[in-house]
Amino acid sequence: MSIPDISREKSAALYERAKTYFPGGVNSPVRAFKSVYGTPLFIEKGDGSHIWDADGNEFVDFCCSWGPLILGHNNASVRNKVMEVMQNGMSFGAPTALENELAELILSNNRFIEKIRFVSSGTEAVMSAIRLARGYTKRDKILKFEGCYHGHTDALLVKAGSGLVTFGESSSAGVPKAFADETIVVSLNDMEALRAAFDEFKGQIAAVIIEPIPANNGLLLQSKDYLQYLREICTENGTLLIFDEVISGFRVGFEGAAGYYGIQPDILTYGKIIGGGLPVGAYGASAEVMDHISPVGSVYQAGTLSGNPVAMAAGIAQLSELLKPGFYEELQAKTAGFVKAIQDFVAERGYNLKIFTVGSIFWFAFTDQEAISTAEQIDPLSMLKFKEMHRELINRGVYLGPSGYEVGFISAAHTLADLETTKTAIFDSLDIVFSNSTN
Ligand SMILES: *Cc1c(COP(=O)(O)O)cnc(C)c1O
Repeated sequence: MSIPDISREKSAALYERAKTYFPGGVNSPVRAFKSVYGTPLFIEKGDGSHIWDADGNEFVDFCCSWGPLILGHNNASVRNKVMEVMQNGMSFGAPTALENELAELILSNNRFIEKIRFVSSGTEAVMSAIRLARGYTKRDKILKFEGCYHGHTDALLVKAGSGLVTFGESSSAGVPKAFADETIVVSLNDMEALRAAFDEFKGQIAAVIIEPIPANNGLLLQSKDYLQYLREICTENGTLLIFDEVISGFRVGFEGAAGYYGIQPDILTYGKIIGGGLPVGAYGASAEVMDHISPVGSVYQAGTLSGNPVAMAAGIAQLSELLKPGFYEELQAKTAGFVKAIQDFVAERGYNLKIFTVGSIFWFAFTDQEAISTAEQIDPLSMLKFKEMHRELINRGVYLGPSGYEVGFISAAHTLADLETTKTAIFDSLDIVFSNSTN
């Protein structure tokens, strides 16, 4: 049964005011709730797995700040460490021991990188990794995949044209055509397209960048064989393989997707979880590759707030929790149980819905396909069902990211009781979504 909409009076008033300050009322576009019902909810506080909006509505949160909050909101270890470090000042623009501490935590528990550089966002990490790959190989072209997101750096705001191997067409105004021309775009999970691209641009491709677990346009899980093939074809061609692990890093295991698949990329990028909710990004590689970065190497990269002590403190506290024995096993088991229960419900009802999952990530895909591994397989019309589901869930106290292309996250703070109430909310919502349609 449908239930009344929650009150959004205060959020709506804040949004009206925000629209006078910010384009579209927001500081990042997806927050504007364009793909779902209602005005964006302005969040007042978060604690554990729960958030509260300006009208006092309470939600179990599965957006988790789009991934960084793997320990949930307002985690005591992270908060205490940040508060302790803040007593000594916020920023120096000079090295601090905290940078060493976070680097040591990461490098001694990650077999895939030997040196790292901290920046302030995922976008910045990717932008720097691309420049490093170009500087290292002395080549200009890069190859990306349709359906992977790498932040908003010019060279990667590029989508596929029509054809197996295409020069990118910019997906944003303001990206010079000359930049987009340096970016080749192919479909995911397609060995033939990859081979064709390497044949056509022999000796010209500096780097291939991929989300090894693509999770920004649905959850487009790739086969291990494909990722292995990608590794091999890059090696054969002297092209650097960049794993953009801004979302998968520290999420599917401490060593991210590289560890999950056992594949060694040439450069890795991190963000989101690495900063414990504060703005941190990073890129890493072998010492040999990283030593092409200034001041030792000729590839320039810098940042006024890079390695900021308060942000480092949050990262240290959060990653220390992730290294405790059993952390990932427990999180994964919790997620698997949750997803399985929904899958069983959906199967019993015969609804056209799949829930894809890896680690503590899940994605609702309104489809009858058994697997979805490319952007082209996603039916845009299926998003209408997500929109209905999102409204029903919000009304039942469950907060998912406001777009059907976004994945959900389960944090260590989600209790079994949270997941039980969420399941009930999901079952009731799905019954409504599917009651007005043939399937
Ligand atoms: C979020 C994300 C980015 C961009 O990171 P920002 O911190 O938002 O700039 C880049 N790549 C991937 C894979 C991401 O998930």
